[in-house]
Amino acid sequence: MTDRQALHDAVSRGWRQMGTLLVHLARDLPPDPQGTLVNAPPTRGSTVLFPTVADMNENGNRRYDHELIYGAMGTPIQHQLEAAIAAIEGARHTQIVSSGLAACSTALLGFLGKNGHCLLPDSVYGPTRRFANTLLRRFGVETSYYPPTIDGDGLCALMRPNTQIVFAESPGSHTFEVQDVAMIADIAHEGGARLVLDNTWGIGIFHPFAHGVDISIQALTKYPSGHSDSIIGAISVADDQDWQALRDTAIQLGQLAGPDDCWLTLRGLRTMGARLERQSRNALDVALWLADRPEIACVLHPALPSCPGHYLWKRDFTGASALFGVILRDEYSQSSMISMIDSLTLFGIGASWGGYESLVLPTTGGIVRSSKHNKTPHSGPAFRLHIGLENPEDLIADLSNGLDVLNQ
Ligand SMILES: *Cc1c(COP(=O)(O)O)cnc(C)c1O
Repeated sequence: MTDRQALHDAVSRGWRQMGTLLVHLARDLPPDPQGTLVNAPPTRGSTVLFPTVADMNENGNRRYDHELIYGAMGTPIQHQLEAAIAAIEGARHTQIVSSGLAACSTALLGFLGKNGHCLLPDSVYGPTRRFANTLLRRFGVETSYYPPTIDGDGLCALMRPNTQIVFAESPGSHTFEVQDVAMIADIAHEGGARLVLDNTWGIGIFHPFAHGVDISIQALTKYPSGHSDSIIGAISVADDQDWQALRDTAIQLGQLAGPDDCWLTLRGLRTMGARLERQSRNALDVALWLADRPEIACVLHPALPSCPGHYLWKRDFTGASALFGVILRDEYSQSSMISMIDSLTLFGIGASWGGYESLVLPTTGGIVRSSKHNKTPHSGPAFRLHIGLENPEDLIADLSNGLDVLNQ
């Protein structure tokens, strides 16, 4: 096997392996003598009618079992999606919420309390940082930041008696540091805190609960929904007590997702393995091509040794997704990078990722570092690529033209 074949296999293996699960999970529809549909239709509803008051009261006590109580607590299609995500994440319970950001904020609100302290990695998704620095601060919760590649002693030194949550995101937004999640889990637990992981990049290829994570977050907006037409999130837990706290918080915040978004996400999930088996390979081809170009200082793709924490990706992940970062050499200006990006014809310019199509986003200004121990890791202009289902040779030709524009 050539090196490239071995790498192709390493990035796509986990996606191929989950194909059977994705096709068969959460399809236990009630048998119907008329015949059973392959897919459950979206279920709409607010009021749920009960035969008697006693039946209604008894059902209200079963809020932790995903019973049909009232539409705001979730409809059958939402509960079906919750079962699907729990199976993929290896969780006991999953709560669907209105967006990936709502998953982050609901998880933080559910497990932080008065005078609490939260540790966030400096590579955390920007809106999560903003939530902690504004709303959590307003309610008296302190946040401090740690370098995502910190070692155990460094992290221990940042723990405080009131640390309630250690947050991780692996790989990190924009800079793609892969974190040692099991080590972070041990230190969080020794200090009496919970570990919350934003596992959006690693859905299905990183198994959070096998690495000591307590609460795992998904922006289902990305690969599960997969077609850039839905905003939805999920929070998963392995522990029954944590589930009660999470479920109560979600209900009190009025968190749910509409039936169409749940249905679109279930539909997207069925092909996620096949899409990503291809997209992960396409992304690797593009990343390897860029890594050889003289304009590029660094390709931040977890499957390449140039990415911080690459050895942890090799240890812990069964594949790679199709989102990675690129840093240009220092001599290029931000404005020449923007001209390059504007010249691309096959890459959409826009936020988010996870659909079937390729995207590009300038990220230089989004790389923020609060920790004193952690300087911005690179100085050149930066952008992020999401690689879709196009022919990778066409994407490479487009990028090649873009680099010509950069050099003009
Ligand atoms: C996109 C994203 C989110 C937020 O998801 P939305 O559904 O867009 O709110 C959270 N975390 C990570 C890592 C993301 O990439």
